[in-house]
Amino acid sequence: TAAYPFTPVRAEFPFLATSGYGPPPAYLDNAATTQKPQPVLDAVLDFYTTANSNIGRGFYDLSRRATARYEEAREVVRRFVNAAHPDEIVFTRGTTDATNLLAETFARRLVGPGDNLVVSGMEHNSNLLPWRRLCERRGADLRIVSATAGTPVRPEDLAAALSRRTRLVAVTHVANVLGTVNPVRDLVRVAHERGVPVVVDGAQAVAHLPVDVRGIGADFYCFSGHKVYGPMGVGVLYGRRDLLADLPPYQVGGGTVKGVSHDSPVAYVPVPARLEAGTPDIAAAVGLAAALSWLDGLDRRAVRAHDADLVRYAVTTLTGVDGVRVVGDPTADPAGIVSIVVPGLHPYDVGGHLDQHGVAVRSGVHCASTFLDELGLLGTVRLSFAVYNTTEEIDRVAAALRTLRAGEWTTRFPDVRFR
Ligand code: PMP
Repeated sequence: TAAYPFTPVRAEFPFLATSGYGPPPAYLDNAATTQKPQPVLDAVLDFYTTANSNIGRGFYDLSRRATARYEEAREVVRRFVNAAHPDEIVFTRGTTDATNLLAETFARRLVGPGDNLVVSGMEHNSNLLPWRRLCERRGADLRIVSATAGTPVRPEDLAAALSRRTRLVAVTHVANVLGTVNPVRDLVRVAHERGVPVVVDGAQAVAHLPVDVRGIGADFYCFSGHKVYGPMGVGVLYGRRDLLADLPPYQVGGGTVKGVSHDSPVAYVPVPARLEAGTPDIAAAVGLAAALSWLDGLDRRAVRAHDADLVRYAVTTLTGVDGVRVVGDPTADPAGIVSIVVPGLHPYDVGGHLDQHGVAVRSGVHCASTFLDELGLLGTVRLSFAVYNTTEEIDRVAAALRTLRAGEWTTRFPDVRFR
């Protein structure tokens, strides 16, 4: 059995020791959102307790201090992803907000009738629908690089999908259904050889892999704070400085302008402020910085090893349960996600059953029904791990699944598919 270096880490998460009802669940839905360690909770509370004021506006000390904390948070993010400049970091509401921003500002100007955008077949709706809607509006085509086997997108397959009219590639770093890790550096290289910019969806990557945006070479890289031990309501858009500098505002309003008069054109401020209209979630940005600093304080290689241990343990343990099938091969390059199916049972039934046994997992299509279509599945039951998870929690899943196979449960949703 593996050594789990993160057992002490678990104690830093108050949520895991308490719950509204009964004993705390085995929380295995970390791909949806992670729990927050005490330093993150403290940072948010401290902001509201000692520094709460709006940023970039007031000429008084408190506001200047809040502004400084917000900009310090940006610097922490810059370092975390190894961006070259803090003004390459735009705070958004999350990954979805970042991809929509890019579709509405960057991609919108590039794409016209007869052009195409390329995405992989394993994308989350948040890295699919903004591009699809843009294509529909502009009379462009959305090309899909098939991901049927649940294996990483192959650079040669991406190359084959590109044409002279390809304006953008959008691809996930780690896929949220099967945890597939894509060779993003190679994918970027292939696209760049054809002069095509690349957006990488890092929502499922940042908590598991060290992310180096310059190493990857991505033009844009997006992620959500709440999936990397940070607060909800904040996310990050990294963009190469020269590309961001050119972007028009996404939303317009307070904070985006140098000055406005009714009889002259509006002059906008430079990025990142130009892309951060209105009052941002300042406390969440400060909390995100605390989360990234906290995560950086762990041994990232050990985090990766812990992920791999849990994934291997889950695959071995769960395939030992009669009737359970693991989808794809999550042990090939483990990123903390294992999807299973129990043939003959709807994933919702399995998820509901596990809930009754004190296990929280996501079941269904995981906002990626197009990928589930490619897999030919109604849905999956997804276990997704964080630094605080243990093999004992996986044992609880297996024990609950054994009772399921004993026929304790009946299918309530024969072929219903929701989200
Ligand atoms: N992309 C991927 C791969 C995801 O897993 C998610 C979250 N499930 C998102 C994008 C969207 O993130 P958010 O809901 O935080 O905007």
